[in-house]
Amino acid sequence: MTRRTDIAALRNDFPLITGAGRLVYLDSAATTQKPNAVLDAIRHYYLYDNANVHRAAHTLADRATTAFENARRAAQTFVNAAHAHEIVWTRGTTESINLVAQSYAASKLSAGDEILISVLEHHSNIVPWQMIAAKTGATLRAIDIDERGDLDLDDFARKLSSRTKIVAIGHVSNALGTINPIKDIARTAHAVGAVVVVDGAQAAAHLPIDVRDLDCDFYALSGHKMFGPTGIGFLYGKEALLDAMPPWQSGGEMIETVTLEKTTFNRLPYKFEAGTPDIAGAVGLGAAIDYLDGIDGDALRTHEANVIAMARARLGQMEGVRVIGAARASTAVVSFAIDGAHPHDVGTLLDQQSIAVRAGHHCAMPLMQRLGIAGTARASFCLYNSTADVERLVAGIDKVRQLL
Ligand code: PMP
Repeated sequence: MTRRTDIAALRNDFPLITGAGRLVYLDSAATTQKPNAVLDAIRHYYLYDNANVHRAAHTLADRATTAFENARRAAQTFVNAAHAHEIVWTRGTTESINLVAQSYAASKLSAGDEILISVLEHHSNIVPWQMIAAKTGATLRAIDIDERGDLDLDDFARKLSSRTKIVAIGHVSNALGTINPIKDIARTAHAVGAVVVVDGAQAAAHLPIDVRDLDCDFYALSGHKMFGPTGIGFLYGKEALLDAMPPWQSGGEMIETVTLEKTTFNRLPYKFEAGTPDIAGAVGLGAAIDYLDGIDGDALRTHEANVIAMARARLGQMEGVRVIGAARASTAVVSFAIDGAHPHDVGTLLDQQSIAVRAGHHCAMPLMQRLGIAGTARASFCLYNSTADVERLVAGIDKVRQLL
């Protein structure tokens, strides 16, 4: 298969981007725009294949089930899982992490056990663990960062012990862009018998993901951050772990047999998929994965690295502008502050120039507390952004500074 190498041309696949006039969209870390291939797949599904999956014995239901399970196989290939049944559909990263917390952690942890996260984490990879810690008596601890915004691996080594049962870390920080060394973290964590949960929300649109190479136990991601629809994502889990875990939500689909006295549960992955799933969402996410698969990964990453490096360099040279975070390896986002301006005002003044950035704590309040700031303005980039967008951002920030 020949993959597309003309990354600049990809922009034309996104009707909202091409149709948006002057808009410069620099908020893809919050959600990406959707290519025609995804929009078409959802429409095609509803026009020609729509039925409920797995149950009914008619042709249309067969077609819906095939489309749904093909999407699961696309997800399996996307993260290089050994089996399709290691992919559990969820609403996204948040629900995937809650599944691990409510099912795996709630059934395994007790007082004296520890859950290790980091100060870089999104609230989605903090709050579910806080709640499970409160319920089980386990303790939640957090790995610190260094002055660049990289994980402090000495602190990791200090905090990891035989008491650590779960290490839950983001692959890429949504606030600073830091790429964490998941493979090394997993190896170190496994040496003490901990399981490793990866929040992959910000990695999926940017990095190749290979759960077997990373050797993580769980990997969570969201379709809408990788060109798919909202409301769908998945959890990868190692078969042996998923098999041993109790169901968490219950009802239809997740059962094998039900009497009024007793229920036996369905096999993987259906044990964790109670109720009618988001079939069209899964089909749309499958189309997003096919879309990404049609792009040359090296060309994509080179393009993104160039655009982001230019943004970091240009913002870094601007008087009164501070780029926040300078991790040794990073992608996707550039966080910044303008002297004398609240991040929300920066966001509003850029919006008035048709430049969409995010401003605030980015659902990472503990990180903001650690950095001693209220928030940042954040420009986030993906495959449809260009150096021209960086020029517009720089000009926009210049104007903001004049207005101050
Ligand atoms: N983790 C990270 C690092 C994120 O950036 C986000 C979304 N901002 C999430 C988790 C939560 O993703 P979702 O809202 O799609 O569940």
